[in-house]
Parts: sequence; structure tokens; C-alpha cells
Amino acid sequence: MEVKSTEFIISNTDVSKSPKPTLPEIAFIGRSNVGKSSLINMLTNKQNLAKTSSTPGKTQLINHFLINKNMYWVDLPGYGFAKVSQTKRGDWTKMIWNYVETRSNLCNLFVLIDSRHTPQAKDIDFINKLGAKGIPFTIIFTKADKDSQKVVSANISLFKKALLKTWDEMPVAFVTSAVKRSGRKEILDFIEMLRSEFTIETPANTTP
Ligand code: GDP
Repeated sequence: MEVKSTEFIISNTDVSKSPKPTLPEIAFIGRSNVGKSSLINMLTNKQNLAKTSSTPGKTQLINHFLINKNMYWVDLPGYGFAKVSQTKRGDWTKMIWNYVETRSNLCNLFVLIDSRHTPQAKDIDFINKLGAKGIPFTIIFTKADKDSQKVVSANISLFKKALLKTWDEMPVAFVTSAVKRSGRKEILDFIEMLRSEFTIETPANTTP
């Protein structure tokens, strides 16, 4: 697919204020600074659709965008700001799990992982919790240009190894660089496949 149109719809902290779930939706999440905004901007060919480098402590919002008038893309607030208070962390946790567990139109959550780092417990724990709750997700390794291919491959292998402690097989994963624009076509094609195969629950096809 190509992104032909983008429209900002709403930012909020309350999932219930999200647009009605009448279109398929995908969402992006990851630790702060993982490169989420850069990835969304790269995929959409926009300089500034998602704001880069949001500062710790700022209100963490769920941002809905309408893409090609036929699906929503959601930029979710990052996790793992070192300086954030326990209360704010609790608010984030509540908001995110409320979001992923209640959005009936969520086809897939893209979990972004910084390819420069060895596996981090926060990421592994988050992914394992998604699995336990049956939330469909895909991994995107970011910033693949920042280190040598050898380091990137080694980190990805370690991450897979860490996941395979709890998973029978490795979840689908993409490797990207926002700088080199790599992984773009693969992800866009994957999103289009998800969108076209997803059935929206309407009162008519919901089992009573
Ligand atoms: P976010 O906090 O997850 O939205 O992360 P940003 O998109 O703001 O990126 C954090 C920092 O990493 C910024 O300085 C970006 O320029 C940089 N960055 C993001 N993606 C890439 C990438 O693919 N390659 C390189 N070299 N830098 C990146």
C-alpha cells in the first residue's frame, strides 16, 4: 500500500473517547526514544505527523490518525521514561491495557524495539503480557543503520532467544531504519494485508 492521505483525528487519555471502532486499526508502541515518531513519519511520508522526541513528564496521549480514509493508525505513548513518577507510570499502564484490551477494531499492535540494545526486561515483559492476553502484535526493530549489521543481527538474535523462552515460535518481526527508509514497503504491505483481512464487528455479525 501507499499512504495517500493522513488526517489527525483526536488525542486523548481516555480510550472511550477514541473514534468509534468502525474501521480497522493498527497501533504503535515502544519505549520512549525507540524511534516511534520517526518510523510513523517515514511510513506516512510526512515530516511531522507524529511528534519526534516527546519530553518525559508531558501528558501521554493516545493519538488517532485516519489513513487513506479506510483505517486508523494510533500513536500510543511510550513507556520507560526513567524520570517519570510511580503514579504516572501507573496511569500509563492503566491507559495502555485499557486501550489494547477494549479496542475491538485493533488488528495489530506494532511493538518497537531499539536494535542497538541487547534485550531489555521491560520489552520482553510487555510482549509476554500481550501474548498472555491474546493481543495480536508484531515486532519492529528500529534504528538498524546506527550500528553495524553484525551488532544489529546479534541483538535481534538475542532478543529472539529471550522470547523463545516463553514462545513456541518467534512472532513476526521487521527490521527498519527511518534514516535509510528501510523496511518501509514490507511494513506497509503487511498493514494492507491486515486491513483487508480484518472484519469489523458490527451488531449484525456479533454473536448475541
Ligand atoms: P520516539 O520517542 O520513540 O518517538 O523516538 P523519535 O522518533 O523521536 O526518535 C528518537 C531519536 O532517535 C531521534 O533523535 C531520532 O532522530 C533518532 N532516530 C529515530 N529513528 C532512527 C533511525 O532509524 N536511525 C537513526 N540513526 N536515528 C533514528
